[in-house]
Amino acid sequence: MTKKFCANCEAYRDTKAEDRIETYKVHGKSIPVPVRVDVCLTCGETLFDKERDSDMLHRVYTAYRRQAQLADAIEALTADEATKETEQ
Ligand SMILES: [Zn+2]
Repeated sequence: MTKKFCANCEAYRDTKAEDRIETYKVHGKSIPVPVRVDVCLTCGETLFDKERDSDMLHRVYTAYRRQAQLADAIEALTADEATKETEQ
């Protein structure tokens, strides 16, 4: 068990790592990002650290770009199919 400072308890508490899906909004799109957070065992509050947050931002934008590329690919595919249909 790791002891970390909990801002809510204003004390060092035992924490546990928890895997979660956090949803961030980027340009009006909801981007779900898997994250590992530390949770205070005393009050149940999620502990944030700055390092994680800057890393998070990076991951959110990576996920956003991946989703945007996917959307573009699907759009291109659909456009392609639509063209084919008109040709016939
Ligand atoms: Zn706490």
